[in-house]
Amino acid sequence: MKIKETNTTCCYCGIRKATTKDHVPPKAIFTKPRPNDLITVPCCFECNNLASKFDEKFKAYLGMHIARQGGEAERFFKEGVLPTTKYNGKLRRNIFNSMYPVNIATKAGIITGKGKAVPWDNEAHDITIERIIRGLFFHHYGKIIGDNAEINTYWFKKPETVLDDKLYETSIANGNFKYQYNKVEESEFDSVWLFNFYNGHFAGGMILSKKSPPHLPD
Ligand SMILES: [Zn+2]
Repeated sequence: MKIKETNTTCCYCGIRKATTKDHVPPKAIFTKPRPNDLITVPCCFECNNLASKFDEKFKAYLGMHIARQGGEAERFFKEGVLPTTKYNGKLRRNIFNSMYPVNIATKAGIITGKGKAVPWDNEAHDITIERIIRGLFFHHYGKIIGDNAEINTYWFKKPETVLDDKLYETSIANGNFKYQYNKVEESEFDSVWLFNFYNGHFAGGMILSKKSPPHLPD
């Protein structure tokens, strides 16, 4: 189900009036010119403002983690992330302070050198993933989750192929963001969401209704 034009409640808090549109996933994770098939959802000023605080962090960490994929991912890192870390001193310091030494290996596991890795900023990661789940749930099912359900977020080392259940697959932004999802038919919210960013970062989550017992996949 697509967004109803008449719906003016914020799809995140479900309380305040929507005064703006939010991009799902955040538009900051795509280079300019931005793809024209990005999904938007109705959003209030407060939720939009809060979200944008985490967008920049999420973008920076995503870029650092996928840059080695080359191609579009590398371009996103160079054109989208490097300029951000240049002018955002606080973010830059956070990144440098969290770096740790690693061995650099080929895909076959042969160590070719030493380098530095940056762990994800968990808060920025999970908050952004949860927001994408809330936004896409509203986009597809026309319902606001609010606090009617719990959202558990995860991230994966490689693309997840989890369930026997059929998942719907969508690809937007020239394939730089792909997602899979499905909802338990008899439940209002219970659903699974899997995201693929630039074929280099994989995350997702589950929405579990608070009222009914969770319907977990085997
Ligand atoms: Zn809101």
